[in-house]
Parts: sequence; structure tokens; C-alpha cells
Amino acid sequence: MAAEPATEPSLDEIVALCKRRGFVFQTSEIYGGLGSTYDYGHYGVLLRMNVKDEWWRSMLRDRDDVVAIDSAILQHPRTWEASGHLEGFTDPLVQCLGKCKRRWREDHVRSEQLGAEDAQGEIVCPNCGGELSPPRQFNLMFKTHMGPVEDSGTEVFLRPETAQGIFVNFKNVLGFARKKPPFGIAQIGKSFRNEITPGNFVFRMREFEQMEMEFFVPPPEAERWHEHWMEQRMGWYTDLGIRPDHLRLREHGAEELSHYSSATSDVEYLFPMGWSELEGIANRGDFDLTQHARFSSEKLEYFDQATGDRYVPYVIEPAAGVDRAMLAFMVDAYDVEEVEGRKRTVLRLHPRLAPNKAAVLPLVSKEGMPERAREVFGDVRAKMPAEFDEGGSIGKRYRRQDEIGTPWCITIDGDTLADGTVTLRDRDSLEQTRVAAEEIADLLADRLDQAWTSPKLA
Ligand code: ATP
Repeated sequence: MAAEPATEPSLDEIVALCKRRGFVFQTSEIYGGLGSTYDYGHYGVLLRMNVKDEWWRSMLRDRDDVVAIDSAILQHPRTWEASGHLEGFTDPLVQCLGKCKRRWREDHVRSEQLGAEDAQGEIVCPNCGGELSPPRQFNLMFKTHMGPVEDSGTEVFLRPETAQGIFVNFKNVLGFARKKPPFGIAQIGKSFRNEITPGNFVFRMREFEQMEMEFFVPPPEAERWHEHWMEQRMGWYTDLGIRPDHLRLREHGAEELSHYSSATSDVEYLFPMGWSELEGIANRGDFDLTQHARFSSEKLEYFDQATGDRYVPYVIEPAAGVDRAMLAFMVDAYDVEEVEGRKRTVLRLHPRLAPNKAAVLPLVSKEGMPERAREVFGDVRAKMPAEFDEGGSIGKRYRRQDEIGTPWCITIDGDTLADGTVTLRDRDSLEQTRVAAEEIADLLADRLDQAWTSPKLA
């Protein structure tokens, strides 16, 4: 069994690891950074790739009722009129009238200073204690212009969610996908929000990536499918190693619901800054298709030839964030323990998520070990993502792999040359075993296979 992480890291510890090991960098760092945008380094790219791949696997490849789409970031501006974003995708903005003049999201300040229930009491600037202005609604969509003329007629928006690109393609998909409700359309892509008070690292960014699926159902089945997707999505996180007591479903109160939703539950994770949204699972009813039908004059409905029924499907939407998911997986996997009097930091990532599954390490860079190690590396790399590392002391190299979350290290040493065995080191138990070099690739491929069915490392 994999050891359960015992550590509850601070966000600063996660940020430090991300920087130290090249998961995440601040955008434009050499120019002083740009507010709440981040770049992903090599291991961040690989980890996010695996998060997205696991999402595609559970949403698409393991089912036969969901199809994929990849819609443009720039859409016809009418999209955002119809969806209600132009009018209603706003947050209440307050500005400090005291010393610091900083801007804040009123609802966040209110719940921090007065608790979520108190809508009336007085709030002050969280930074300098100054008086705050009355709130005004601030639209979160980024604007730009299409073509060489910059006037209101050429204004377009960077999408604030990927969902609308799915709704406007409903008719196209219905035309070719050979699907009828209940069926879903899934998409992963960048979204942009001009957040008022970003922060908390990659939890709240202005440019981020979403994984959204719109599941179209006959209206009487909506509630049942909402339940189904809540269960599925909770299971996805726990199957990939999130501790169940760090995950919860929270139903939105009536005052919290978005303009389109009749019921929403958030999957929340116990981040270092407290319980926060990881994913929203909403019953959007027929709001979006009805609105786009009205604005475009297209018929966006389903006609069942067998029964003669014609109806606008309801939509159940699990909407997750790649960046928040990655952060949650890292926080949950982060562990610090003492081994033989020394501190060891380890990311106990599920092997399916780990950026690399194995690392091949020649003990020393001589006596033919690198050459033999390259041969083993060739075998292993043919079966799974792996890396080769021959620089520095073996202890340092192990520590590096631990912090990247590599489940297995293979060391080539003097015995390998003598008897053809290698050392296999397990990230979690630290157990070291000797295995025949010819068998190591198959053995690890088997272990990885087991991890596909069993959430815990064998
Ligand atoms: P919040 O209340 O935290 O602002 P939201 O309810 O507006 O989030 P949704 O519109 O439901 O978020 O978006 C779906 C998912 O997209 C979120 O659960 C989150 O994982 C991700 N997401 C939304 N905004 C951001 C952001 N600014 N940075 C990173 N991820 C985000």
C-alpha cells in the first residue's frame, strides 16, 4: 500500500516546490511578473497533460455517450449577449477610499469579515482598514478588437467559459454524432476572466484552463443525471488519490445560484486556504439552448423520430478547472517525513498522474554504467514516460525524483554489470529490491496496469 501523506502543506511550501522543481513559473518574471498569470514548466506540463488525459478517459473513452469538441476562444459577440454574460457576468467591486485605494471583491470581503450569512454589516478595506466605496458591478470578460478598426462594432471577447462554444455547436454535433439525449459534448480549453482580486497561486488566475462537459437530457431525467454526475465526479478525484476527507460536495443556496442554474453543487477541496471550489456541477435547465435559439433564430431542439417528440433538452454541466485540479492533486500528495534523521519531501502522486513513471539512474558515470543504463532506459521508455538522469550524487537524484513524484527509480550499479540485475526503489515505501534488468520494463508496466484498476499503488 502507498503510504498516506501525513503532511498538510502551506501554500508557500507548494509554491516553493513548484518553482524549485520547475512545475510553475510566474509569467514574464524577468519583467516583474504579470498579475495572476502563470507559465508551466516541464513537470507542470506533464502533470497537467495527465490530469487532462484522465478527464478525457473518464468523460469520453470509458463511455459511449459523450463526444468531443474544440471551439474557438473568440466567438461571435452575440454569443455573450444570448448567454447573459454581457449583462450578468459581473462581480461586485469595491474600492478602498482610505490610504491604499486597492480594489476588492465585495462578496469575498463580506464573507471573510462577517461570515457568509451576514449580508448587512459594515466592511472595511482588508489591507489598510479604510472605508470602502459602495459596490459597483464589474464585468469580468476581457475585450479585444477584431480587424484593424477599433470601434464598438469590432469588439470581441475572450471567452470566460468554454461551455458556450458547446451550446452554439449543438446543432452541428447533433447532425453528425449519431447521438440522442441523454448525450454529452466535452471540451478542454483556455478561458479568461478579469478577476478583481486574484491570488492564491494558480487557484485564481486571469487566464486558466477548463474541462467542461454539457450533458443534454430529456427534461424529466435532469435530476437523476445531476445526481449521476455528482457521484461520478467525486469518484474521479478520489480514484486519483485525493483523500475523501479532503473533498466534499456543497449545494448552492438560492441566493448563490448563477442566472442560468436551477441547482448547483460545488465539489470543494480542503486547500491550504480552506474549503474552496474545485468544480461546479450545475443543472442549467434549457436556459442556454433556448437563449441561443432566440438570438440566432435557429431551432436548437431534439426531434425524436420514433416518438414524434420535440423538445429542448436540459443540460447537466460538470465544469472543472485544470489548474485547480493540479493544485489539489499536488497539495494532497505533498508529504514531508524524516528518513534516517534527514527530511525527505515527497509528492505521493497517483502513478497515473505522476509526470514520469520511472527514472533510470546510473550510479556513477563510468565503468560502462551509463551505456548499460541507456539500454534499460530504452526498454522502460518504450512502455511508459520515463527520464534518464546521470548527474550528481545518487541521494540528490533520488530526492529530486521524490519531489517530482516519480513512483519508481531504477539504479544501474556494479552488480548490474556483474549479474544483470538493477535496483528498483519504491518512492513511497523506500523499499529497494533487485530485479533482472531484462524484466524491469515489463514489471513496471504491470504495476502501472494495476494502478489503472486500483487507485492505490500496489
Ligand atoms: P469562483 O467562485 O471560485 O470564482 P466560479 O464558480 O466562478 O469560481 P465556474 O464558473 O463554475 O467558477 O468555473 C468552473 C471551474 O473553472 C471552477 O470550478 C474552477 O475550477 C475553474 N475556474 C474558474 N475561475 C477560475 C480562475 N480564475 N482561475 C482558475 N480556475 C478557475
